[in-house]
This record gives sequence, C-alpha cells and structure tokens, in this order.
Amino acid sequence: MAKRDYYEILGVSRNATQEEIKKAYRQKAKELHPDKNPSSREQSGEEFKRVAEAYEVLADAGKRRQYDRYGHAGPSQGFTFGPQDFRRAREAYSEFGFGGFDDLFDLFFRQGGRAGPRRTRSHRGEDIEYRLRVTLEDAATGTKMTITAPRLVACDRCEGAGSEPGTSTTTCRTCDGQGQVQYRQQSLLGSFVNVQTCPECGGVGEVVDQPCKRCRGDGRTKEKSKISITVPAGVETGSRLRLRGQGNAGVAGGPHGDMYISIEVIPHSTFRREGRDILSTLSIEYPQAALGARVRTETLWGEETLTIPAGTQPGTVLRLKGKGMPDVRGNGKGDQLVEIQVRVPTRLAAEQRRLLDDLQRSFQED
Ligand SMILES: [Zn+2]
Ligand SMILES: [Zn+2]
Repeated sequence: MAKRDYYEILGVSRNATQEEIKKAYRQKAKELHPDKNPSSREQSGEEFKRVAEAYEVLADAGKRRQYDRYGHAGPSQGFTFGPQDFRRAREAYSEFGFGGFDDLFDLFFRQGGRAGPRRTRSHRGEDIEYRLRVTLEDAATGTKMTITAPRLVACDRCEGAGSEPGTSTTTCRTCDGQGQVQYRQQSLLGSFVNVQTCPECGGVGEVVDQPCKRCRGDGRTKEKSKISITVPAGVETGSRLRLRGQGNAGVAGGPHGDMYISIEVIPHSTFRREGRDILSTLSIEYPQAALGARVRTETLWGEETLTIPAGTQPGTVLRLKGKGMPDVRGNGKGDQLVEIQVRVPTRLAAEQRRLLDDLQRSFQED
C-alpha cells in the first residue's frame, strides 16, 4: 500500500511552520485519543501511529528536508519506525497534557499496532542460572562435563497442558480469555488505560477444570536433568556460557528458556592468574642465582626448563612465552611470569659453612 503524504496526514500545507505542524499534531492526537473512540480503538490506534510518524518526520528539520526532497523513499534507507523512534512525538504529546502517552504507546505500538489486548496462550520458560566451579587446569585446556541441574520440564502426565488427562479447559472469566486485563487509571493529566497480564490465568487465557495431579496445573514438573557442557579454554571467574533452550520448559507449548552457566575458577595452590598471564614463584639456591642455571619449573602445560641468567637478583621476573592462559576467543595464549626467590640457607653442613666462609673472605679481600 502506498504511504500517505505526511503533510496530508497532519492536514497542513507544505510550507507550514513548525508551530502549525505541532498544532495540527495536537489536534489530531486529541481527536484520536482512545477515550474518545472507544468503539474504534483499533482504527484510531492505526491512524494515531501514522500521525505520530508524520509529526516525527516533519518536526525534525533534517528529516523534513530529506522528506521534501525524496519523499517516503529517502535517499538510501528512507524512514523506518519502531517503538523507540518516537521521541519527538512522545515529548510533544506529554506537553499537551492528554495523559499517559506511554500507555497509549503500549496500546498502539507494542501490540503490533492493534488497539486491543492480545491473547497470549503460551509463554517462554524462564532462563536459569547454574554456577559451575572449574579448576584452573580445566579453564586452561577447556573441558567437557556433565552437570545435574534442577529445572522445570514439560509434565509427562498431562504433556504440558496442565489439565488432568481426559478433562478440558475453560475460558478464564477474569480476562474473558484475553490473557490481559485493562483498567482505567486517573492521573493529573487525565485518565488512561493500563494493560496488565491477567493474574488469574497468568496470561494463558484459559483455566483448567481439573488440574493435573502431577504438576498441579502448571504443566511443568521439576526434574534433575543431566546436561552436557563444553567449557571453552580460557574461561575465567565471571564468564557466562549460554545454553540455548536448556532453561525451564515453556508454558502451554511456549519455547524453553535458556540456561546460563556462570563460571567460577577455583583458586590454584601455586598459580595466580592475571588476565591471560600466569604468575608463579620459583625458589633457587644462592649459587644458582650467582652463577646462572637451567632449572625445571611447573607450568599449566607440564614442566618446562627455565634459564636463570648469571647474577639474577631476588624478585627478578622471568618469562615463559606462551605458557599462560589461552584467550577465550582463540587469540593465542598469555605467558607464565616466574618470580625468582633466592633461598638463604638456614642450616649449613660443616663443609658448606667452610665454603661460605672462604667466599666471604674473598669478598672482603676484593
Ligand atoms: Zn501435568
Ligand atoms: Zn485470565
């Protein structure tokens, strides 16, 4: 269907001033207010959407210029409107003081442009969160594991329907099967209509005559489910994995929610993690520090040989390249940073004492 001209929708001339455009919008919005059109809410809702869109474009100097030049087609993408694109229309409307633009907005926009409540028979299951503790080693290599998590699954007795097998459901009286209830609210700016999920049927629109004995009418039962998880290499405390469709079962045939696995990496006895790097300490003998040495040291990836240069001072940090944590997005690995500690002997054998004495004397002679 060809789109109507914005000027025509508002009933203004092509050279109307901003003042005139706003006035026209005010007039149209007033005429189309749902309180004045209780019998044709749907139609007036549709028309109000068009009016708000026309105002949104014509009240914006840039958009208006674009519209004047290219019409609805626009130079590249034209004008598209979602519920979030009505800032100006919203602001102006609240200035008029007709009340409750947000509620009108819900009424006209969120429900696919229909001015009445919509029947929602089914809804999506809830997302659930599961805390998973993993070792630093598992976080480094990645791992597959199976967890047992409590969640709601479709009841097998009633197959998720909620009614005892062989019995039926009836239309909810509270909402007349609509799944939503409306109530009129008074505010300083006037009255407006508020829409809410029906508290009686929870939005399903129907109530069961005889609830299923197993799930008590919910259509879902709690179960401890075994779920296999792949923990990717490089995860850290606070990482969240999303398992699509592994959350609670939906209600009345609605889709499953998701499961979020939130990772906690258990502190390690010897390694500390800093981003992608692993920090560790290594104690060496005083002569090794002085003379230099090649020593074996632990990494997350097995033992490695570390070269200690001659004259290494206590507190020196040596780097083992690529022996840290992998990046969770696969961009390589960090390093292991080894802080060198030098042991000072506390008990000496007679021979060791004699050697150190000799050494000390030679320092004094220098
Ligand atoms: Zn059941
Ligand atoms: Zn209801």
